[in-house]
Amino acid sequence: MVTVEVDPARVESRLLSGDLACPSCPSGVLGGWGHARPRRIVGAPGPIRPRRSRCRGCAATHVLLPVVLLLRRAYLGELIYEALQSAAAGSGHRSIGAALGVPATTVRGWIRVLASRAGAVRNHFLTIAVATGVEVHVPKATGSRCGDALAAIGAAHSAVGSRFGADSVGAVTAAGVSVALSGGRLLAPGWPAGCALADPTPVASACAG
Ligand SMILES: [Zn+2]
Repeated sequence: MVTVEVDPARVESRLLSGDLACPSCPSGVLGGWGHARPRRIVGAPGPIRPRRSRCRGCAATHVLLPVVLLLRRAYLGELIYEALQSAAAGSGHRSIGAALGVPATTVRGWIRVLASRAGAVRNHFLTIAVATGVEVHVPKATGSRCGDALAAIGAAHSAVGSRFGADSVGAVTAAGVSVALSGGRLLAPGWPAGCALADPTPVASACAG
């Protein structure tokens, strides 16, 4: 999955200038190739219609996922991230759902997925933080699996900012970093590679406190 900035004009300009590399082959660049179907996303002002692209080398097509969206989730990444932060801070899925206007079962699903892969997510983002950052502070264990994963995402966010400067990162938030550096797969099946999908750990002990 290729993630891109939200601004359609910048995406078009990068497609035209051959600035987007093909993830399927070593030297291909992506050009415009119509649009994907529109998606209704809770938290967005209107339907989002991602651009499609096609490699000029290997002819593979790729949807360009805006950095505000997670794969196969009908909610803005920022909203999901906020819910996960509340869970890491000890809130339950019912109160989070009520506060954000999201069904409690949906919130519980997000929390369960992140908790089940928290260790792998932490490793993934800390590896990026260490590889990217000028001076990286590895966050201490928080006592919460979701909290540990989010702390690592926060470290990657800071590292990207320190390496490339706040201007180049622009207004990219920690939530945006969680989308971009997971290729939109933060909560998608099979990511990161090798992580267990089913985890018997109860959500309460996984995320609370
Ligand atoms: Zn290609």
